[in-house]
Amino acid sequence: MYLKELSINGFKSFAKKSELEFSAAITAIVGPNGSGKSNIAESFRFVLGEQSVKSMRGKKGEDLIWGGSEKVSRGNRASVKVVFDNKARTFALDFDEVQIERIVHRDGQNEYKLNDSTVRLKDVHELLANANIGSTGHHIISQGEADRVLAAGPKERREMIEDALGLKVYQLKKQETERKFEKTRENILQVESLRREAAPHLKYLHKQVEKAERSLEVQKLLRTHLAEYLKREDTYVAFHFDRLTAERRGPAEELEKVRESLTDIKKVLKESEAKPISNELENAEQEFRQASGVRQEAEREMSRISGQISFIERRIATPPKAAVETNSLISRTQLEKLVLMIESSAEKAISRGGESSLERALNDLVHQLKTFLKHEQGEVIDTSEADKAELASIQKSLKKVEEQVLNATEEESRKKEELERIRGEQVSGTERNREAEREMFTSMNRQRELESTLVSIDRDLSMLERDRADFKNELQEAVSLLGRGASDYYSHEVLSPSGEVLNQEEMVNEDRSVQRERRREVEKLKIRLEELGIGATDELLKEYNNAKERDEFLARELADLEASVENLKELIVDMQAKLQEQFVGGLEKITVEFHTFFTLMFGGGSASLERVTLKNKMNEDSEEEVETEEGVELNISLPNKRVRGLDMLSGGERALTSIALIFAMSQVNPPPFIILDETDAALDEANSRRYGDMIEALAKKSQLVLITHNRETMARAGILYGITMGGDGVSKILSVKFDEAAAVAK
Ligand code: ATP
Repeated sequence: MYLKELSINGFKSFAKKSELEFSAAITAIVGPNGSGKSNIAESFRFVLGEQSVKSMRGKKGEDLIWGGSEKVSRGNRASVKVVFDNKARTFALDFDEVQIERIVHRDGQNEYKLNDSTVRLKDVHELLANANIGSTGHHIISQGEADRVLAAGPKERREMIEDALGLKVYQLKKQETERKFEKTRENILQVESLRREAAPHLKYLHKQVEKAERSLEVQKLLRTHLAEYLKREDTYVAFHFDRLTAERRGPAEELEKVRESLTDIKKVLKESEAKPISNELENAEQEFRQASGVRQEAEREMSRISGQISFIERRIATPPKAAVETNSLISRTQLEKLVLMIESSAEKAISRGGESSLERALNDLVHQLKTFLKHEQGEVIDTSEADKAELASIQKSLKKVEEQVLNATEEESRKKEELERIRGEQVSGTERNREAEREMFTSMNRQRELESTLVSIDRDLSMLERDRADFKNELQEAVSLLGRGASDYYSHEVLSPSGEVLNQEEMVNEDRSVQRERRREVEKLKIRLEELGIGATDELLKEYNNAKERDEFLARELADLEASVENLKELIVDMQAKLQEQFVGGLEKITVEFHTFFTLMFGGGSASLERVTLKNKMNEDSEEEVETEEGVELNISLPNKRVRGLDMLSGGERALTSIALIFAMSQVNPPPFIILDETDAALDEANSRRYGDMIEALAKKSQLVLITHNRETMARAGILYGITMGGDGVSKILSVKFDEAAAVAK
């Protein structure tokens, strides 16, 4: 016995708590019309999770709650609890007893409890489906519902049969799998769409990161190139700067000295230039010449005077001769002698210069001419006395002149000495100047040499200064491009092509063009770096990694989803195949049972179930897109009647056919209990008996709760409950004896 107890409280007409125990295989519920019997059948539907209020004869959840009467006020909630025996573990729960309870509140809220623990409706459905208590309620046949299995279409009938065969649980699983399949497909579309949406950004980030990575590579390369370039440049500049500075020192000092010495030489030369040496010499020469002239004049005067003296002395010594004829001619010899005398006197007078000298000379001339004429006229003139006086005077003059000659000679020799001294001086001065000039030219040459050396060194130094300025700029740029690390270039080891560390000498003696080429290379790298931008920021990398991880995650997710879609597809196909197999097998069994019950009921004839193909057009335009479904049709043939169609059956015949089918369905896969609400209502006495027999057969496999007015049916029940309703509109349950029950029976 599975079904143990039903407890109703506030449900429909059961305003107060009412309990029913099902300790027999067949329980019959009897009572007058309207007493609330069908409410009990519905309370079963309710507690087992029925969602259609309509199938419980209500419009909304509230209709299921005691609505109140004049005497008893309305309730706020309705609860129904059903208790099952689970010793046989019919329910997949490790309890000997399983209690399912449903409560509905006026606000329409429902609560489900399993052994007093709140659960979901889904849990209740699953539990019941596993125990072969399907939700289509094929085991609860409400009043007038027996016909449902006949009235239903092939598709619905198939569902009822599937439910009866216990395939519901598999169908639920299949539906669940299909839902999962659909959900997974939706997820695939979503994930694909997410990936598609994110793809351009990821691609953009990827490009950025690639660019950044290239930039990092270029930076690395640039760092190495720069370190080598800077180290070489620094070493080169420092070395050659020191070298040139040292090389410059000697020539610079020498130049300084040469300049000083040149200044000295020039000073000396200037000083010698300042002296009017030539004037002094000229003056001395002039003076000497004058002194000489004076001396010569004095000497000439002295010799003239001497001549006069000797002339006079001769005259004195020679007595005057008789006069010669006055008309005698003057010989040429005498005339030439006279001319000589005049010439000599004139020369002397001219050379002496001065008026007094000229006067004296003229007087002398006049005297001489007179004397000549007297002599030529033969006039004997005794001149001895006069001559003597003249001689004395001339001798006096001679003395004076002699003194003059002596003085002039002394003066001349003094002047000569002076001249000699000046000449000597000039000669030695010129010598010195020449030496100084020689020295000056040598110094000037040296100065030029040194200056050109220094110019060359300074040019090299200024080139180095330029190189140094360039180097500093380069270093600053390097730091701003590559950060402070770029200034650590000095620790960089410069290697030869064969990989040996180069020393300073090897570095500084390299051809400059190689370093220039190196710099060009550095510039090229800088340009490339500028094009690429400075490296990857952490933020970019983080963003890219996040985007990539997300995309990879989505890709994995997609692969998982696609795999699970495939699995689900296979599972669905598998489930479908199994369901079909079980359905086909089950249907065959039901057909056999149906035929048996049918022939039992009708005393002959035949009945069968047939699978029919239903076309379910999915796409109006394409014939190919058609999904086929199967339904179930009934084929019956009444004994001795030609009636074949269901529509042509009488009410009783329909009821019997329904019962035969319901019973057949219950036989193949017996549910734990079956509730039949006045299924026997339309049966006549003979059929009621047959019905009673079938009930007994059925009760061997399933517990039966029968709501009935039929005596025959009541007679087969082990327990009888009578339902009454008093003036308060409240249904009450009471155990009744068969006779009591029969009293209300037809
Ligand atoms: P019959 O033999 O004629 O089929 P029955 O015994 O099956 O009758 P039910 O149909 O179960 O009777 O009961 C109907 C009664 O329940 C009616 O009197 C109705 O007023 C009462 N009822 C239904 N719903 C409610 C409710 N929410 N509150 C109070 N009474 C209700």
